Parts: sequence; structure tokens; C-alpha cells
Amino acid sequence: AGGGRQRFLELAAEIPGIYVPAFYDVTYHEDGTIRSFTPNNPHAGETVTKQLVVDMDSVGYIEKPLVPYIKVTQDRVVLEIQRGCIRGCRFCQAGDVYRPLREHSLEYLKHYAYDMLKSTGHDEISLSSLSSSDYSQLEGLVNFLIEEFKGKGVNISLPSLRIDAFSLDVMSKVQDIKKSSLTFAPEAGSQRLRDVINKGLTEEVILNGARQAFEAGWNRVKLYFMLGLPTETVEDMEGIALLSEKVAETYYEIPKEQRHGKVQVTASSSFFVPKPFTPFQWARMCTKEEFLERANIVRGKFRQMLNFKSLKYNWHEAELTVLEGILARGDRRVGAVIEAAYKNGAIYDSWSEYFNNDAWMKAFEDCGVPIDFYTTRERSLDEVFPWDFIDAGVSKEFLKREWKRAMEAVVTPNCRGKCSACGVLKFGGGVCFETRETTEGTGL
Ligand code: SF4
Repeated sequence: AGGGRQRFLELAAEIPGIYVPAFYDVTYHEDGTIRSFTPNNPHAGETVTKQLVVDMDSVGYIEKPLVPYIKVTQDRVVLEIQRGCIRGCRFCQAGDVYRPLREHSLEYLKHYAYDMLKSTGHDEISLSSLSSSDYSQLEGLVNFLIEEFKGKGVNISLPSLRIDAFSLDVMSKVQDIKKSSLTFAPEAGSQRLRDVINKGLTEEVILNGARQAFEAGWNRVKLYFMLGLPTETVEDMEGIALLSEKVAETYYEIPKEQRHGKVQVTASSSFFVPKPFTPFQWARMCTKEEFLERANIVRGKFRQMLNFKSLKYNWHEAELTVLEGILARGDRRVGAVIEAAYKNGAIYDSWSEYFNNDAWMKAFEDCGVPIDFYTTRERSLDEVFPWDFIDAGVSKEFLKREWKRAMEAVVTPNCRGKCSACGVLKFGGGVCFETRETTEGTGL
């Protein structure tokens, strides 16, 4: 409307959820931590609050997704069945920032599954969510998809399922068992550390799931872990090899006539990166050397296992992880580093053949930005973080409570077990309004 750039930004800043960086001033303490983060324009608020769709069915989905002429990575229909997660794993940013869990209705999903497959001609549909097993109508949805599409050459893919009798039954109906491998994400090698990260998965559940899967005909298992989690000890690291060994042993416990050749257990570990808006946002991150040392400890333990030949162990790039760690908890000063790295030739960094660590290291040096400040530094509980002006829903008090509980290895129930008053009740919808006990006001 002829108002110019400044007027546009001022009007934009008034829209809930919009952040205009230029409208905020930041001052720093001598040690480099933030002293204040304040608006310098009357149109900008103190905080920027996350905006979200509360009633998932109130907005339409895509009926006719674009179908490219070339082969693409996600060459299938993707149907989001719910948003958010009830689980509360303490390392998971998505699990916090997408709270609360909001489901689509079964009718809605049936309608869009049908429309999208018909309009695109794709021969695969993937159900997307952070934890599909928690979708309350999963059985009805999967049965509908199998009945409606299985005989018509449409594959159904179900990522992020918990391995139990129901999911094995579903998977055996929709996948070729001989070709597929089963995935478990224990994330940590010992029960103690799984309690620290609030991963509600016990060794018993993993081994039972593996046994049922082996009896049903699978013989390949993938296990995902993280190294460098807060409080991790050598025992936890070695637990990765021990748990993988136990999975392999479980295979050889089932009667010989039920087995299909040799078992193959592949364990992969990524390195832990603390993320904003998670209880681990206060955590120290490992150095590259520490990460590699830990991976070597795990590898050494794998070599001692009796079923060594059935086990494979691989781990992620440590340099890339350190960079990810800096960017994850970086502040405005890191912006200059990103520009300098680009000028030094850094491009397509996630593509390992293009990743140029030297371009980044030189950029940090030239800009005088110390890497340790963002990675290995211990943070105090009252530090002002660069992202504190964003209200993502979960309160800092809740995250602090969870950080303290993590240090004591105390597990917090999931949202359907008991509400932990994380702060997102104010959005007025989703799982928070299902009936259950609440810990609000109890100091928990
Ligand atoms: S308010 Fe309670 S039920 Fe809602 S997301 Fe937070 S912990 Fe879960």
C-alpha cells in the first residue's frame, strides 16, 4: 500500500507468530552470555508466540500434490496422521515444539488418502507422524488402507511404529518380510541412561519385540543409538554392544525351523546434539575427539561379542555433529560465521562429499567466534538463551524440572499417562483435553 519496507515490517511484527529480528536489541555480559533481549520498536512484542492449528480437521490437506517429472526422494503420497507427540523424550526438539499432540479424525484421513492416491497415481502411501503407534485410530486406518488399496498395487509404508504384536501383524500384511528390516530406537545402551532421556523403552520390551519379529520371519534388525548423552558412562556405551548381542542371542533362542538363515543386527549411533526448547538445552556437548573416543569404546566392545559376525556397528560424522551443535544453540554472532563460511566456499554442507569443515573453521576464526562457547560450555539454569523470546508453548520452568529429573534418572509419564503441566494447555486443544490425572500445582 505504498508504505515502504519499514511500515511493512511494523505491520508484519504485529501478526502473532512473526519475528522481525531488526526490532530487537541484544546486549551481552562480559562472558559472552546474553544480558538482555529487548524490543526497540513499539510494534514488536516482548515475546513471539508460536501459532498452531488446534483442530487439525478444520484445515484442508493437499488433495492434488504436485508430481514431478523426475524421480524424487519422497516419491510417494505422504499423509500426516497427527501432529505432536505424547512421549516427552528429553533430547527431542520436535517432541517439545510441536506440543500438544493433535490427531486427525479417521474420516479425514480416509478421504485424503483416497484423493491423493487417485490424483497423483503414486503407488505408495506413507503415514507420517512422530510416533505412529500413538495414533488412537491406527488399527482402523491401516485396515481401511489394506482393504481399499492393497490389491490395487499400492504399498503402504508405516514409519515410526513401536514394535509390538499389533505392529508386527500390520507390517507382515503390508511389507515383504524377507526384504525388510525392523527398526528399534533404544537411543541408549543402558536402562539407566534410557531413564535419563525419558525413553520409555525397556530391554524386556525390545527383546520381546525382537523375539516376536524373528518368529514371524524377520531376520534383520536395525538399532539406533546416540552417543554423548548427558551423564553417559563407559557402562552405557558398552551397553550398546551388549544390547545388540542380546538381540542376536534372542534369534538363536527360537527353534531352528523357525529361523531364516543368519541374523543381522546393525547398530548405528549418531552423536548427541543439545537442542533449544528441550530439557537438554542446558547440556554440555562433547568435542569431536570425545565423540570419536566414545565410538571407539563401543566398537571395542562389539569386537568382544560372541555373535560378532552377526553384528555391525557404524557411527555418524563427528565434525558435522559439532557444527550442527553450534548452529542449534547459536545466537546472532553465529550469523556472521555462516556468511563468512559461505564466502569461504561452504555449500551443500549436508552432502558429505561437499562438506568442507576447513571453510567453517576458518570462518569461526576470522569472525572471532569461539566454538566452545556454543558446544562444551556448561550453562547455568538462569542463563538467558538466544531463543528465550520465542514462546514455543513449553515453559522454561517445565524444561528445568525435566532437566533436574533427567539428572536424577527419574522418568516422566507420557501425556496420556499423566499430564506434567508443560505449559501448552493454554492453546486449548489436543491431548491435554483428554481426561486424565494432572500434576498441575503439585510442584512435579
Ligand atoms: S499440558 Fe499436559 S497433556 Fe498437554 S502436552 Fe503438556 S504435559 Fe502433555
